[in-house]
Amino acid sequence: RLYNEVQELKGNIRVYCRIRPFLPGQNSRQTTIEYIGENGELVVANPLKQGKDTHRLFKFNKVFGQAATQEEVFIDTRPLIRSILDGYNVCIFAYGQTGSGKTYTMSGPSITSKEEWGVNYRALNDLFLLPQSRQNSVMYEVGVQMVEIYNEQVRDILSDGGSNRRYPSLIQYRIWNTALPNGLAVPDASMHCVRSTEDVLELMNIGLMNRTVGATALNERSSRSHCVLSVHRVDRSEATGERLKEAQHINKSLSALGDVIFALAHKNPHVPYRNSKLTQVLQSSLGGQAKTLMFVQVNPDGDSYAETVSTLKFAERVS
Ligand code: ADP
Repeated sequence: RLYNEVQELKGNIRVYCRIRPFLPGQNSRQTTIEYIGENGELVVANPLKQGKDTHRLFKFNKVFGQAATQEEVFIDTRPLIRSILDGYNVCIFAYGQTGSGKTYTMSGPSITSKEEWGVNYRALNDLFLLPQSRQNSVMYEVGVQMVEIYNEQVRDILSDGGSNRRYPSLIQYRIWNTALPNGLAVPDASMHCVRSTEDVLELMNIGLMNRTVGATALNERSSRSHCVLSVHRVDRSEATGERLKEAQHINKSLSALGDVIFALAHKNPHVPYRNSKLTQVLQSSLGGQAKTLMFVQVNPDGDSYAETVSTLKFAERVS
C-alpha cells in the first residue's frame, strides 16, 4: 500500500527537462548534450574532458531539445491546465542556473509576441477558453492575487494601500477579507476579479510596477525576490479552487522549494514547508492532491557542465 501511495504521489510531481539553444554571439559551441531520447532520456557529456566517467545518463518525464518551440512545450503542459478545471491545485515552476531559460519557458522573451508566449500566458488563455468548450460547464469566477516575497517579507503588490494608484477601469475588483480555503496563504492580500487573459496581464503590469517602487538597486532586488501570481477559480459551490504561480529566480527560497518537492517525492514524514515564505505561501499547491510540474532548465554550454550535472542530479531525484 505504501508503495502505491508513493507511486501515486510521484504521479503528481512531474519533471520536464528543457535544453536552451546556443544564443547568437555565444562563443563556445561545445555542447554538453550527447543524446536526447523519446522517453525522457538525456545523456550529458563533459566536452572539456577525455577518458572515463565523462558521460551521465538521466531520465525525466520528458526532455525538450534546443529546437523545441513554446507551442510544443505547452502541448505537454496542457493536461495539467485541464486538471485545474477538474478542481486540482496546480503548481508550475522552473529550476536551473541563471541564463538557462527559466524566464523564457515560464513567460517567454516578450509579452507582446504571442507566438513566443511561455507557459504562464498560454495557461491563462486556456483557463479562460476551456470552460467555454466544455459541455454543461458551470460559470467560473476567476480572481487574481499577486504578492512579492522579499527578505522573507510578504507584500501585496496589487493593493492600492490607500494611495491614489489607479487600476484599469475594465477590471471590476472586489476584495475578499479572507483567503479561499485552498487559495494563497496570505489572508489579507487583495483579490481582483478577472474575465480574460488581458485583464490578468494588465494586473500583472501594475503589480510589477508596484514591485519596483522604492527599489534602490533594481537588479539586486529582483534577483532576491519572488513574485507569485496566484489565480483562483471558484465554482458556484466554492468547493474547488486552483492556482498558478511562477518562481523565477534561484535563491534560498527556491532551494527550499526544491527541498519540499524532494520530501514530497520521497514521502518523508516531515515536509519542510516552513523553511521559507515561498513554500509557506504555496503550501496548498504542493503535496496532497496538488499537481506539480517542474521545468529543469539546461544551458548546453560546455563551460556549464558542472552546474548542469548538479541541477540534473537534483531534478532526477524528484522525477
Ligand atoms: P533565466 O531566467 O534562467 O535566467 P532566461 O530565460 O532569461 O534565463 O534566458 C537567457 C537567455 O536565453 C534569454 O536571452 C532568452 O531569451 C534566451 N533563451 C532561453 N531559452 C530559449 C529558447 N528555448 N529559445 C530561444 N532563446 C532562449
